Amino acid sequence: MKKLDSEYEIHKLAAGLKVDWQQNAVQNIIALCHDKISKWTKGISKIRSIQELEVLVCEKVKLVFEEIYREDDLKAVIRKYVSLGEPIFSTLKTDLDEKTFATLIERRRIDGNSQDRYVAVIDCRGSKAPRRFFSRWHEIAHLLTLQGQLQLPLHRSTTDRSPTERLMDTIAGEIGFYDPLFRPILRDEIAKEGGFAFTTVERVRGRFCPEASFQATLNACVNRLDVPMLLVEIGLGYKKEEERQIFSSQTTLFSEAHPKPKLRVSTIIGNDRARGTSLKIHRNMQVPAASVLHRFFFKEDDLPAKELEGFENLNIWRHSDGGALANLSVRIRVRRFESSVIALISPARLT
Ligand SMILES: [Zn+2]
Repeated sequence: MKKLDSEYEIHKLAAGLKVDWQQNAVQNIIALCHDKISKWTKGISKIRSIQELEVLVCEKVKLVFEEIYREDDLKAVIRKYVSLGEPIFSTLKTDLDEKTFATLIERRRIDGNSQDRYVAVIDCRGSKAPRRFFSRWHEIAHLLTLQGQLQLPLHRSTTDRSPTERLMDTIAGEIGFYDPLFRPILRDEIAKEGGFAFTTVERVRGRFCPEASFQATLNACVNRLDVPMLLVEIGLGYKKEEERQIFSSQTTLFSEAHPKPKLRVSTIIGNDRARGTSLKIHRNMQVPAASVLHRFFFKEDDLPAKELEGFENLNIWRHSDGGALANLSVRIRVRRFESSVIALISPARLT
């Protein structure tokens, strides 16, 4: 996936917001959001929680939320706004499809002082429920970066991963875990535990905001650590060539025997501190049989653990051309999370 900083859509947005778009456009847009918020928080009594900050920011951007938990909630929201003279809300009937987690609507029948100029309808049904907290901040991000009016009176936030949608997620990950509130808790919990582990995330989440999902809190923690850290997800998968082979054999009459999937790195996120260091694993790399991750995934240990911790040298990992990763001793913490297996990997001497 192309880096957000080099996307035309993001350059256009940065230029429209009058921040430098040529260098670090994403950071400049985030800094602008931070500036707005710190101006708003100045001079008022201390903000003590992310919920209090959300109330303040929504007031400033004139946003209200409507949350959908059941079909009846959706009908009620449509009825409410249509009766207020906003027929556009009736499109919600079909808007909130599988890929859409929220819809932002700009109301027309209001005056300049109305506090509900924007309505974000958050879909909290089924698998979208854990995203609720993050979705609210994603919608706030749209309004923090708005120039004038919404391009259309209605914006659907989807899983399509367009540059703008990815940027809004990045902003939500920053502002929704507002540093002045989040960092002291993270620092405190790391000090208590003498390091960073999955249990740290659970405790940070409990103190900062239990409504935020574990996954979103985990990402927020990893991004703010003072040490290099990789967050990886592993699963059974194929090499690119194998995928192509499988796909093409499905279209031929005499299909060859399919290759067997192997344990691979399916997603990987490195924090800023990991950039430019030798702590590097590549997406889709095969997990070596000698790795802690392999042992855990295939339950090779006698104890069926929910979590496992171990050390290994990254040089046991091989590219398909035989080349090894860096000679670096790492600490690995791996656990099952819902239907996936995730791991934290950091240089051993630092953690
Ligand atoms: Zn969106």
